[in-house]
Amino acid sequence: MSRSPIIKARQASLTYATRRGPIAAVDSVSLAIDLGECVAILGRSGSGKSTLLALLGGLCAPTAGEVCFTGRPWTERTAREVSHLRASQVGLLLQDGGLLPGLRALDNVLLPAVLAGRPRASLVPRAEQLLGLVGLADRWDAYPAELSGGQQRRVALARALAAEPAVILADEPTGDLDTLAAGEITAILARLRADRATAIVIATHDPALAAIADRRLWMERGRCTEASAATLPPVSPAVALPVSPESAREVAFEPAPVALVPQRPAIGVEALGRSWLPFLAGLAIAAAAVAVFDGLVATKQEAVVETARVQRRLAKEMALQDLRADVDEVTVDDRAEAAVSVFLQNYRPERPLHVLGPTLEVAIQRDGRWESVSCALEESPAGIRTIGSDKTLVSLGFRVPEGSYDELLRGYLHIRIGAAMVVSDRPDGTGDLFERLDAYYIYLRDPRRTEDEVRRANGWGDKATVPLWIAMPSH
Ligand code: ADP
Ligand code: MG
Repeated sequence: MSRSPIIKARQASLTYATRRGPIAAVDSVSLAIDLGECVAILGRSGSGKSTLLALLGGLCAPTAGEVCFTGRPWTERTAREVSHLRASQVGLLLQDGGLLPGLRALDNVLLPAVLAGRPRASLVPRAEQLLGLVGLADRWDAYPAELSGGQQRRVALARALAAEPAVILADEPTGDLDTLAAGEITAILARLRADRATAIVIATHDPALAAIADRRLWMERGRCTEASAATLPPVSPAVALPVSPESAREVAFEPAPVALVPQRPAIGVEALGRSWLPFLAGLAIAAAAVAVFDGLVATKQEAVVETARVQRRLAKEMALQDLRADVDEVTVDDRAEAAVSVFLQNYRPERPLHVLGPTLEVAIQRDGRWESVSCALEESPAGIRTIGSDKTLVSLGFRVPEGSYDELLRGYLHIRIGAAMVVSDRPDGTGDLFERLDAYYIYLRDPRRTEDEVRRANGWGDKATVPLWIAMPSH
């Protein structure tokens, strides 16, 4: 079989400049992923897997070296080319799935293609087929909240496949799932691998999942090597999954509840209007911008029935590329009350940008699960904000819950800050709209432990700095 690499990294590094000095998250990694190949990247948490995936998919630029996609470095392409390639050639499967809560499974699968301006009706049969592939044909009209974690992940996988990408980048696709649900995801990926239509790169610390790959790489402190049997964790026979194409086809999915009578999805505009409505209603309430509501519904429907394809593409580009948002600062007082500020910034101020929201939420990881924490937004978002080139800050406060936090970095809490916002090019929200859902991850030092305790717990030297918080890439 003749193969050529679809992705090639040459001495690629990504070094974060932090206040405490540089952190080489990815350190001089050279690798080539061939078309149709399946590669697993193993390594402990913090070893650089997510950052490497982000580099491979052109989500960020290396600080040294280069990453080529189909023979050309990501960094030599125009922004438009990068967004087009990412939308059409790269299927991203992120750990939390990233489904839009207000859309049914089928609409979630269709969304990227619809936003790319393709007519919805022509896409429905393919989306149905993909839902069938992931064992959810009967659940096409379920909202994410009505699906289990494993089912949501499967919908996200169907969505990643919708554009028929040349490569799938999956970041911990079985993380947080029970053995059975993880087995279902693994079996689907094994089947895709057997078809060889797509290159698959999987970051994981799940040995059963890694077992389906043609090659396994081991990451440690940003360095990447071909894994030898000695470095790999053992695969337990109880969770080992079929790796041969034949047995991979015999996946048994959990059956749909009997009360659900499958019906074919309606294709009309009316049905779409219905499916968008709860989502929009939720947003409008969250933002307390009732006056904007009718405009939102009308524009969204119009956009979906393709009256403004180009505008939508611009809106998407604006929402995802021009609008930068991340954690700006974190402080904690002596009563363990934390204040987090998130900044919004317009990187192309000549194009006006207006944001409804954001609404923010905080979750803390404990025993491998995300627990939400009640928090207060310090200033209530009054309708739409105009975002300029200076940072717009939105703050929220929460009390750091007591407990022992030793899972990843000893003495640090792993915190996720979720942000939901709608981006518009007009101040009254009547223009084109794009929903953006972000998750920012930080490690926050447990305020109830002293710096010395944290140094000792991690085996750091006496002079090692113990930052209050450490930003993580989205993972
Ligand atoms: P993995 O996915 O294997 O858990 P990551 O790629 O998320 O690893 O992180 C690799 C390393 O880079 C970690 O040590 C992490 O703390 C560090 N890191 C990631 N993002 C940032 C950032 N924005 N600023 C500083 N350090 C970071
Ligand atoms: Mg990661």
